[in-house]
Amino acid sequence: MTRTALVLGAGMVGVSCALALQKRGLAVTLIDRKEPGRETSYGNAGVLAASSILPLNNPALYAKIAGYLGNRHPALNLSLRRASTRPGWLLRFLWEARPSQGLARIAALQALTADTVARHRALMGEAGIPHRLRETGTLKLWRSEAGHAAAQAEHDFLKRHGIESHLLDRQGISGVEPGLKPIFPAGLLIPSVGSVDSPGAVTAAYAALFAERGARIVQAAVTGLSRNSAGWRAETATGGFEADITVVALGPWSGDLLKPLGIDPKLDVERGYHRHLTPQAGSSLTRPVYDVDGAYYIAPMEQGYRVTCGVDLSLRDAPDALRQIDSATAAAREAFPLGAVVGETWRGARPTLPDSLPMIGEAPRHPGLWLAFGNQHVGFSTGPITGEMIAAMVCGEPPPIDPTPYRPGRYIS
Ligand SMILES: Cc1cc2nc3c(=O)[nH]c(=O)nc-3n(C[C@H](O)[C@H](O)[C@H](O)COP(=O)(O)OP(=O)(O)OC[C@H]3O[C@@H](n4cnc5c(N)ncnc54)[C@H](O)[C@@H]3O)c2cc1C
Repeated sequence: MTRTALVLGAGMVGVSCALALQKRGLAVTLIDRKEPGRETSYGNAGVLAASSILPLNNPALYAKIAGYLGNRHPALNLSLRRASTRPGWLLRFLWEARPSQGLARIAALQALTADTVARHRALMGEAGIPHRLRETGTLKLWRSEAGHAAAQAEHDFLKRHGIESHLLDRQGISGVEPGLKPIFPAGLLIPSVGSVDSPGAVTAAYAALFAERGARIVQAAVTGLSRNSAGWRAETATGGFEADITVVALGPWSGDLLKPLGIDPKLDVERGYHRHLTPQAGSSLTRPVYDVDGAYYIAPMEQGYRVTCGVDLSLRDAPDALRQIDSATAAAREAFPLGAVVGETWRGARPTLPDSLPMIGEAPRHPGLWLAFGNQHVGFSTGPITGEMIAAMVCGEPPPIDPTPYRPGRYIS
């Protein structure tokens, strides 16, 4: 008999799980309260982050904390409300930055991100959208002469981990991106990083591929999850859906449906924002550019130039805190000739576990309940490998990489 699966959440992670399970012959129903790819997987910078192997909470974070206090730094905003109501996650996040964890974390992130471009290239080919992929790398830029030493240190770090990068001076930066204003004396070009021109459209195209192959996408809010003799049942306002297994891939909302089952995955969020701006006539960028001192990306997108900002540690559903995106917008204007803001400011929430690694595997004590969330800053990049890992483990095959670092049992007993 054909095995059945429910996948809850049609962001990049859920859609990738649905496709990978379908490929192995399961009858999959994908459920989301919105159309596919309309939440976090819509609003990101679209970077296929093959070089993002150092978690945000690495040992260098301790030295930066003093500079973050007072919420004046563009990289971080910490709301007192969140710090006082949920101190546990923050303390754990800081504890996980300790040096003894460093190498293992880097290895685990590199295993997840190493072949992101190849995986997306293959999926984009199958989905008929190869034109959305750019293989032009990413450019990191520093605003002061001290940036030369920082760029050199990052170059050496990447080299130690087998990732190619090229140091650039002011002239080299202009050669690579002539549209940038000459305010950056130091830069680093990382060619193996890819990018897309619309992460939401890419996620939607992968979901369309899944539907074309004969599977069902249901648009409904899931209000409850329970186990019965047949397997798992998801409740929605329009009725229940049952299957042998369920994959929870609800991004920043994943904890909401698990708590009633007595599961606390220790998931929280790092919020972020974006704005689209038009370029001034004759100006263009050919790759996403990261301004280290301004703590923002400018990424060329279908909708315009997308400026994304640093981490806002406010409660997931608290009102917008626009300081960082305002500062990123102003800093981006110094770096690149930008025109008007197009549309509304977007806010999203990176789903993050204290050790900055996702949770990929079966929930302890809940056979048939699979967890796929917590992909933090690299979930658009790592959705496809997360899906392949889940599908392989569901089918008893060896997963493409060692699943141990991502096992749910590290936080759920
Ligand atoms: C500003 C910013 C920039 C980023 N830049 C990058 C980048 O350049 N590269 C990169 O790789 N990553 C980036 N990320 C991270 C990346 O966007 C996320 O890790 C990734 O999108 C998470 O995908 P997901 O599928 O887990 O979650 P989501 O895309 O949020 O999907 C979860 C889905 O669950 C659905 N849902 C929630 N609750 C329910 C319910 N009760 N019933 C039904 N459906 C429900 C939602 O509608 C949503 O579609 C960035 C994030 C931010 C915020």
